[in-house]
Amino acid sequence: MSFQNLPQVDKILNLECFANELKPVIANIAREILNTERNKIKQGLSSKNSDEIISEICQSYENFKAKELKRVINATGVVMHTNLARSVIDEQILNRAKEIITSYSTLEYNLKDGKRGNRYEYVGTLLAALFGCEDALVVNNNASAVFLMLNTFAKGGETVVSRGELVEIGGSFRVPDVMSASGTILREVGTTNKTHLYDYENAINENTKMLLKVHRSNFDIVGFCESVDTAELSSLAKERNLIDYYDLGSGYVGELAHKLGKDEPSIAKIMQSGVSLMSFSGDKLFGSVQSGIILGKRELIAKLRKNQLLRMLRVDKITIAVLCESIKAYLNKEFELLSTPKHINKSVAELENLANFINKRLKKSLEIYQTQTFVGGGSLPNKTYPSLALKIKGDAITNEELYRKNGVIGRIENGAFLLDLRSILDKDIEILIEKIDQIESEKWV
Ligand SMILES: *Cc1c(COP(=O)(O)O)cnc(C)c1O
Repeated sequence: MSFQNLPQVDKILNLECFANELKPVIANIAREILNTERNKIKQGLSSKNSDEIISEICQSYENFKAKELKRVINATGVVMHTNLARSVIDEQILNRAKEIITSYSTLEYNLKDGKRGNRYEYVGTLLAALFGCEDALVVNNNASAVFLMLNTFAKGGETVVSRGELVEIGGSFRVPDVMSASGTILREVGTTNKTHLYDYENAINENTKMLLKVHRSNFDIVGFCESVDTAELSSLAKERNLIDYYDLGSGYVGELAHKLGKDEPSIAKIMQSGVSLMSFSGDKLFGSVQSGIILGKRELIAKLRKNQLLRMLRVDKITIAVLCESIKAYLNKEFELLSTPKHINKSVAELENLANFINKRLKKSLEIYQTQTFVGGGSLPNKTYPSLALKIKGDAITNEELYRKNGVIGRIENGAFLLDLRSILDKDIEILIEKIDQIESEKWV
């Protein structure tokens, strides 16, 4: 093949099959593939013919399209699934926030005097009302919150942490690494399984700035173990004139999720125990948008607001508008609008009704399977709670793939492929019924 015989990019873009597709992306793919072929010709190697080249471009473009975000049905039973985008935002919440997102707004404008306003003020007041704290601040995510906190209060000094709390959260968040990046020196105390108050006391010196507590979000230490509770740590910090900060990770709005972990204190309870500062993710158990929610004493939050770093970690109007609507839903007790806690709190009886409803509608009903599931996403580790699943007959691995390719993500347990109903959204029910019917009926032929 010669250079002249290579298909031209313009011609490729005008092919019927690309009529409604993203031309600049196709052009990039085409150029890259044509370059490879040109190099082959230059070196006297055999190259692909025109049809082969076009088919390679098509294939490569299909691979690109497959990476677009796609809606899936979460039948894993894990309500807060990090790989499946954590918390779902209810359509009503989004609708309430929509006008702000799609218009100019007073994000940083004070209508009263026409001067510059503060983007954090309103959301801060809402959070203070919900959690009974003096003030609050919102940043990009909880990892940002930890970074901002350490950078503001402990940079250039030492931060004391229990050895049993030097956690790694999935996706490269490791407490020791975040600490060194923020400019504070890690002072580990205690042992892996036991840390006592005197360990903290003995570690405090003239360079100490902060006592940090980190929630063991994704693992448990059981057996011969001991740790210092937040109230004790806070009073020690007060006594020694240090900052105490609790990275709570997931946060837990008590009232809603109390069934799950009696030994997991709610955010408001922890606040009441005297903690000066704490932070948690907006899209974990709290069930809203990705954000890092910081609660604490007024004068400390004021210092965080003054840190230049906040400008780099700041949230935009979409986050603020949606988050405010979620907080208002909590304040107004509209719990049905908070998808994550709502699904976690569903009783087994409710799941049983759902299973029976789906089964009645299916062409061929499925076995109802009693199971246990996890909350997921870095919260309440090792704490399973009951759930119900529909069991798909046949080879689990084949079924898992078959359903996955149809946008239904389930799980395999004891050699069976399960569709766990705990994490099924109301709006997914009809689609799920259709998909099961379709997939299962194709198996009969
Ligand atoms: C999840 C988690 C984080 C990170 O929060 P993101 O919102 O994902 O950035 C930090 N610390 C703990 C303890 C966590 O559980």
